This record gives sequence, C-alpha cells and structure tokens, in this order.
Amino acid sequence: MARDVPIHPLASPWGRFHLYSFFIDAPEPAVVDTGVAGSPAEGMAPALEALGRRIEDVRWILLTHGHIDHIGGAHALWELTGRRAQVVIHEADAPFLRSRQGHVQEYASGRARYLHDPDGIERQTRTASAAISGELEPTVLLRGGDTLELGGGVRVSVHGVPGHTAGSVAYVVDGQGDVFVGDAVQVHGAANGFPGYADPDAYRASLLHLRDDVAPRRLFLGHPYRTAAGEPYGVRLDGEQPRRAIEESLTIEARVRDAVQQYLAEGTQPVDGTGHPSPYAPFAPIAEHLGYQGDPTLEPSPFFTTLDGYRRRINRPEETHG
Ligand SMILES: [Zn+2]
Repeated sequence: MARDVPIHPLASPWGRFHLYSFFIDAPEPAVVDTGVAGSPAEGMAPALEALGRRIEDVRWILLTHGHIDHIGGAHALWELTGRRAQVVIHEADAPFLRSRQGHVQEYASGRARYLHDPDGIERQTRTASAAISGELEPTVLLRGGDTLELGGGVRVSVHGVPGHTAGSVAYVVDGQGDVFVGDAVQVHGAANGFPGYADPDAYRASLLHLRDDVAPRRLFLGHPYRTAAGEPYGVRLDGEQPRRAIEESLTIEARVRDAVQQYLAEGTQPVDGTGHPSPYAPFAPIAEHLGYQGDPTLEPSPFFTTLDGYRRRINRPEETHG
C-alpha cells in the first residue's frame, strides 16, 4: 500500500465521560464502535464534519464487542448511512445487538447475584431501552480469522480476543499496525479501578496473542483505561505504550488470579471480619488482599463480573480445558 490510511478518534459525550469511536478513512469509510443511542448524531456526525467527511458515507460499522456502550449507537448510525453500511460483530456477541433483553439476561445470570439490588432488573431494562438505539440483525457475522476489504486495497483482519466478552475481537488494519481492541486490554480498568472480564483464562490467552502475534504498532482502546497507579492512558497508544499496556494487563490479571487462588478455593465468606455484610461479599478477602477500595456496586460492576468468572472456572474446572 502506498501510504497509511488515516485513523481519527471520535469522542461522544456521555454524562461526565466520553465514549470513543474510531474513523478509518478508507475508500469505504469505517467506524469502529458506536457509543450509545445519541452518539452518532451528537458526537460522530459533528466530528466527521470537522474532518470534511460525512456520516452518511460510512460503509462499515465494526463492533469490537456487544456491550451497550459500544453497540448502543449501531442502529442509529446504520440509519444515518441510509441503511447502507455493513454491520459487523462476532457471532458470540451478536445476541447483544439483536436484542435489548440479551443485556438484561447477562446481568441477571451474572453480577446481579452479588449486587442484591431489588430494582436491578428494572434499572437494566431502562438502561438498555434508553442507551440502545435499536435492535439490529448484523450483516456480517465474524468468527475470527476473517478479513474485510475497505476498498483501494485497504484490508482489515479480524482476530478473536475473547475474555472481556466471549465475542470480543480486534480489528487490525493490515500493513500499518493499527489495532482496535475495544475493551480487550483492560489494564487496571476504567473509573471503577478494577479490570472487567467474564472469562479469565480466555482474557489472558487473548492478551498473549495480542502481545506476541499481533504486536500492535498503535493500539486503540475503548476507554482511557488506567494504570495500577491510577494514571489514565489515552485511547490512542503508540511507541512503547501498546506493549506496556498489554504487559500491565497481564501483571494485574496474575495478581487477581493469585488472590483468587489464595482465598476463593477455601470457601467464601458472606460477611467481613466485623460481622457486617460487606459490599464486596462473597469476595471481601480478595478485595482486601488486592487493596481494592472502589465501589463494587457501580455498574457495570467489573469487580463482580471478573470474580464471578474466576469462581465459575473453579467450580467447573472441566470447562476450562481447551
Ligand atoms: Zn465492554
């Protein structure tokens, strides 16, 4: 290829935060991740206009995974393209694009069991209704190992990087080392200060694959994840940063795994040492060991998602093979 295709972050406001999408300025333009329902109109359209590009010309909607803050704007963006854009997601996360109810079910079968929130289901239902612009059948179902042609010889390879979710993927712009990982590289997590992944073994294997096989030159993250010292990375990492963020993610995963092995296998305590119910229960000794003092109930509660993942692994070890 003669020259690198330009990549531009597109920030969409969301409460106190921003949600990040990325524009691949290819002959068939692509947007990676879509924020929530209002993001295409409120964030992407003006940002693209400032670049001299039009949102209606977007031809590819590339979703890194199925979480609400990544797929919520997909239907709205697809509408703004006159329904001409291809909508791309891994088959394992496609249920989150097809159905708002899929998000409520994921909550109910996982972290809801630790949050003890009587209004939790109702709250999740309201969030899914407000933040997801519409239910949508993907036009391209990925399995990992796929390639997408964005015109003019621009090719994007898809790598399965499960762990954060079962259907997380990395999109790699071939020949220029630009890699979009969504939330597959968590470092120390975002505002909650805890990394979130549903399957710890898959998460670790995906980090190793990214470090050793993909070896990004530039790494684009779904959120400005923080280091163990609480310093946020940007969402566009280059130089030494991609490798450092992946290494740090591996180190933190190992630390959590150690704490789990020390405390979880011995059985779990519903209360902490004071006799009062702990908001970290049944993982209070693990939180204490890790020095984690964040609010474990702050949704989407990566603390409970992740520790539930380790707990499932211990309870059903036969499923961890292969
Ligand atoms: Zn996510």
